[in-house]
Amino acid sequence: MSTESKEPETFRDKVSTIDKQGHRVWVYPKKPKGPIHRARVVTAVILLAFLFLAPFIKMNDRPLLLFDILNRKFIIFGLVFWPQDFYLFVLATLTLVVFIVLFTVVFGRVWCGWACPQIVFMELVFRKIEYWIEGDARKQRTLAAADWTAEKIFKKSLKHSIFYAISFVIGNTFLAYIIGVDALFKIITDPPSEHIAGLTTMILFSTIFYWVFAYFREQACTMVCPYGRLQGVLLDPNSIVVAYDFKRGEPRGKLSRSNHDSQKGDCIDCNLCVDVCPTGIDIRNGTQLECVNCAACIDACNEVMVKVNRPKGLIRYDSYNGIVRGLKLKLTPRIAGYSAILLLLVSLLTVLMLSRSPVETTILRTPGVLYQETEDGYLTNLYNIKIINKTFETMPIRIELENPVGRIRLIGGEMQVEEDNLAETAFFIELPKQQVKLVRTPVTVAIYSGRKLIERVRTSFIGPGFRRSGS
Ligand code: SF4
Ligand code: SF4
Repeated sequence: MSTESKEPETFRDKVSTIDKQGHRVWVYPKKPKGPIHRARVVTAVILLAFLFLAPFIKMNDRPLLLFDILNRKFIIFGLVFWPQDFYLFVLATLTLVVFIVLFTVVFGRVWCGWACPQIVFMELVFRKIEYWIEGDARKQRTLAAADWTAEKIFKKSLKHSIFYAISFVIGNTFLAYIIGVDALFKIITDPPSEHIAGLTTMILFSTIFYWVFAYFREQACTMVCPYGRLQGVLLDPNSIVVAYDFKRGEPRGKLSRSNHDSQKGDCIDCNLCVDVCPTGIDIRNGTQLECVNCAACIDACNEVMVKVNRPKGLIRYDSYNGIVRGLKLKLTPRIAGYSAILLLLVSLLTVLMLSRSPVETTILRTPGVLYQETEDGYLTNLYNIKIINKTFETMPIRIELENPVGRIRLIGGEMQVEEDNLAETAFFIELPKQQVKLVRTPVTVAIYSGRKLIERVRTSFIGPGFRRSGS
């Protein structure tokens, strides 16, 4: 979607942050201000407070959020998920993807501008510090071009020290989401020699974040982020994006006394919308892959429009069809289709979550061990049992053979599974020899916690067999 200019769209042939020689063009966006920017700052404060506090918040003595990849255990809002819940994880991811697709089809890249951690940190944390130390865009440019005077060394060192300190906090928070705050504090407080791997990871995370926010910056959004690359297929003429009203704005031209009498549009070609853009693009060229919907150009243009006494909204949140035909947001077949799929996925996920067993038992015959015969006329099979307790209570476990008639001999005595943990042991199933008529006899094992039946597990019993089973 571009303006309806007849000129060739040469801006699409190049990336605004790369020059003809292939060198990086450093973007010095003008300091944004205005009501949308202020709303974004408030949103950012709320999101950052949640991001930094979440690892410390506990529910039932467990972290609110934990993504313990090493132990393959996730805790989300107090609920524990183990590898056995992988199907739920896949379904939840699929639901999230469909939600993002639907949201993007309707509202474009609102996520990027308002909630993506990359933009929130870059534009509303690191960039603010840069403005504070080095001044607005023009001053930053001058400082970058200046010789290494004492002032420049001081400003650059101060900025990069603060950048690294914040990156260190981000890196540690990121680590806290993976290993938990308690483990993180141990790494910080114990002697360094005891946590070489943890400290290395800490430094690595911090350095990566520092590099991204100090140097890589908008390139993460325009060149790396897969969500950004998907915009071309997700957006359609009905999607609400940050858009320039070319019908009203063109033909653009500098403000003059006779402006009102001429055929000129409302755009006075002041270039402010370009100056504030953190990705260095000109939104007047139409929707572009690089636009992260930060809305800085809306605020800048609205201020200009007020000054030249013209209505606000020359750049605004609108769709291509809204600008060309004045159409409002409507339910299209595409939106209806995605909504139906999303509803289906959410329903399925809800049902599966509600019916999720709090205890997961896996019983497997010990590999490489055949049946054995006891002196009192029984055949025995050895099994390994793994029980995952997803609750926050310790469970004493009792195993009973439900079918056929026989007995169970647990190795190592009573079994107990700690809260939010797993336990493994082995046991024998012993069946009277005359009862084992098949090579593979189906058996049912009941798992009890106290008097409560928590699960029934079916497995098979290997015997000599007088005839083969069909199973
Ligand atoms: S800020 Fe508004 S008036 Fe100025 S160049 Fe951009 S669109 Fe035109
Ligand atoms: S074009 Fe406007 S909304 Fe898009 S990135 Fe630039 S300033 Fe932000």
